[in-house]
Amino acid sequence: MSEVTGDSGPELAALVADRVLDVPGFPHAGIVFKDLSPLFADPVAFRRVVDATVHAHDGFDVVVGIEARGFVLAAAVAYAAGVGVVPVRKAGKLPRDTHAASYALEYGEATLEVHRDAFAAGQRVLVVDDVLATGGTAQAALQLVEQAGASPLGLTVVVELSFLGGRARVDAHPVHSLLIV
Ligand code: AMP
Repeated sequence: MSEVTGDSGPELAALVADRVLDVPGFPHAGIVFKDLSPLFADPVAFRRVVDATVHAHDGFDVVVGIEARGFVLAAAVAYAAGVGVVPVRKAGKLPRDTHAASYALEYGEATLEVHRDAFAAGQRVLVVDDVLATGGTAQAALQLVEQAGASPLGLTVVVELSFLGGRARVDAHPVHSLLIV
């Protein structure tokens, strides 16, 4: 296997690389989908990823998970860190008053939402997701945290597709990626 890198070191990056499947052509031609299902299903790899995420950023009070695969990680990270979890959801899924943030997709636009009362004022928030690609999703989630009166501490993702430049887009906040490709 060729050398792999990540912000928690090469050994964890190699473990992640080994448990993530590339699915060419899903959901569209030209996309290589990173399927984290085998990683989530592996008890050792999943625990390593959760523990690394807990330790990637110091001092968070709450974890945000981005729908839908971010939920898998966020709940486990929150439990391991002894904090709560807040969902950032696609438009129209949350039942009460929300803040909304829209961003451009390859074709069209997407909107994410968070409940207006999701955070106590000034809470320090860790945002987690499975994949950082162009960064639009993460940027919207971080923006929602600020709109809701909390303080984004940083972003942790399992896989960063560095050739798409997402890290630069969320530049104002520290980014930690367990596998950088
Ligand atoms: P982006 O907004 O471009 O950074 O896209 C990140 C979001 O889309 C994440 O929530 C990912 O779950 C999903 N995503 C984007 N590209 C991929 C990919 N190649 N494989 C898996 N998920 C992806």
